[in-house]
Amino acid sequence: MNTDIPIASNFIGGQFSGSSKVSIAVLSPIDGKKLSEVTLSEQEELEDAVRAAKEAFPMWSNQTLKERSQVFYRFRSLLEQEINELTDLVHKENGKIWGEAKAEVLKGIELTEFACAIPQFIHDEVQEVSKGVECRTTHLPIGVVASITPFNFPAMVPLWTIPNALVLGNCMILKPSEQTPLAAVKIGQLLQKAGLPDGVFNIVQGDKTIVEAICDHPDIEAVSFVGSTKVAKIVYKRATSNLKRCVALGGAKNHLIVLADAHEAMAASDIVASMSGCAGQRCMAASAMVAVGEMDHIIEKICGQARLIRPGENLGSVISKEAKARIEGYIDEAEAAGAKVLVDGRSPQVAGKEGGYYVGPTVIDYVSPEMKIAKEEVFGPVLAIMRAKDVDEAIKIENSSNYGNASSVFTQNGGMANYVMERVSAGMVGVNIGVPVPREPFSFGGWNQSRFGVNDITGKNSIQFWTKLKKRTTKWNPEAKKDWMS
Ligand code: NAD
Repeated sequence: MNTDIPIASNFIGGQFSGSSKVSIAVLSPIDGKKLSEVTLSEQEELEDAVRAAKEAFPMWSNQTLKERSQVFYRFRSLLEQEINELTDLVHKENGKIWGEAKAEVLKGIELTEFACAIPQFIHDEVQEVSKGVECRTTHLPIGVVASITPFNFPAMVPLWTIPNALVLGNCMILKPSEQTPLAAVKIGQLLQKAGLPDGVFNIVQGDKTIVEAICDHPDIEAVSFVGSTKVAKIVYKRATSNLKRCVALGGAKNHLIVLADAHEAMAASDIVASMSGCAGQRCMAASAMVAVGEMDHIIEKICGQARLIRPGENLGSVISKEAKARIEGYIDEAEAAGAKVLVDGRSPQVAGKEGGYYVGPTVIDYVSPEMKIAKEEVFGPVLAIMRAKDVDEAIKIENSSNYGNASSVFTQNGGMANYVMERVSAGMVGVNIGVPVPREPFSFGGWNQSRFGVNDITGKNSIQFWTKLKKRTTKWNPEAKKDWMS
């Protein structure tokens, strides 16, 4: 065990503490060695956290937006000052390469900047709706809220929700992935250092037991979830059946539609970066490419670039032994079904990191839409290429997916780009961009089975999720009754 890295503890009412009961090992996927331990909390710990959050809520929600945002200006500076420490934890617990881990923390800084800016653009709306009668809307916090996060972005996904929800006056319980629980603890330490009052932010480490308890807890008003579609459905159903508001982001199968006139070098490098970045463990990763027409020149370039990637150097590990077996299983199955493996990343040798969970970049051609690899989320550095005779067939393939997170088209023809963007069934679409993530202040969220609930999770759209509107109607003019409907 790495003695520099503490146990992944809970953070409740301003105190970091492990559970007295069960903990499990946190393995670093880089080398398979034990990195730390994570507390598997029980109902009792969740009760303590909810109590602490409830106690903090009257004081925190009573502050102005501007006062609350001050904590996040300081938090942003601390993220910058301690970027290396946080990056190191993300790198070690998740397995992504150091540069990707740092980019994740930088994105966390951008998310925090958005939250700091909320007081600058959130305005009450006021209108004289009738002579002497005024209507005014105010965004108010909802109360105690929860955020449940996945393994693939241990710092960024928690920071999708923490700054916005807290600046808007809520108190939060975060339940990080038990596979990557350490970055969250560092975030808790930095928030405390930034002056966040005790109880406003709490971490309850654990597994599905805590997720279920969050969904059932009568004092938690709203639940945001990010993870697989299978669990997103469970959480969305359970939280809403307990009359909570919920947004649950699920998995993805993102299609890149590549037309023959695409800029060869730009398309190839973007497609390879999208499918292999973070070892393909991004919900925005290119997983399927639909090649329209004669495309061999671009596919050759893609393969050439993929072959230059070295697992353990410029490609990180996948999260676990089980994930590696699942990803390689998809490749085996596609090959057995008749697809052609052009670049084979199965079982790469990574000198000095033999215990790590690596899959090399893999490009598979002649995948048919019926194959499992074409339909399911692989979540590894694998690009499945399907061939389409024209753009309508390509759109049909994209539309047949149950998911709808992202889709991008590669072409130099603006009319064609618009034609495709209008017809693909995805919430985040792009042109000549491998990872069409909308940046702040735009909001993040997919369609179909990639998101349940009506709101996006970041950006301006998330403000509606984290607040409730109070509508005030006031009358000061005794004459107003004459033309007032009531
Ligand atoms: P996961 O669904 O296994 O776990 C997510 C969270 O749910 C974790 O905190 C985990 O402890 C908890 N959980 C796991 N099983 C549960 C169960 N049966 N009941 C209740 N809670 C449970 O996801 P993961 O493997 O950690 O993350 C990868 C997935 O997340 C991929 O599918 C990826 O596409 C998705 N993801 C989606 C987005 C998005 O924006 N749509 C972003 C990041 C990741």
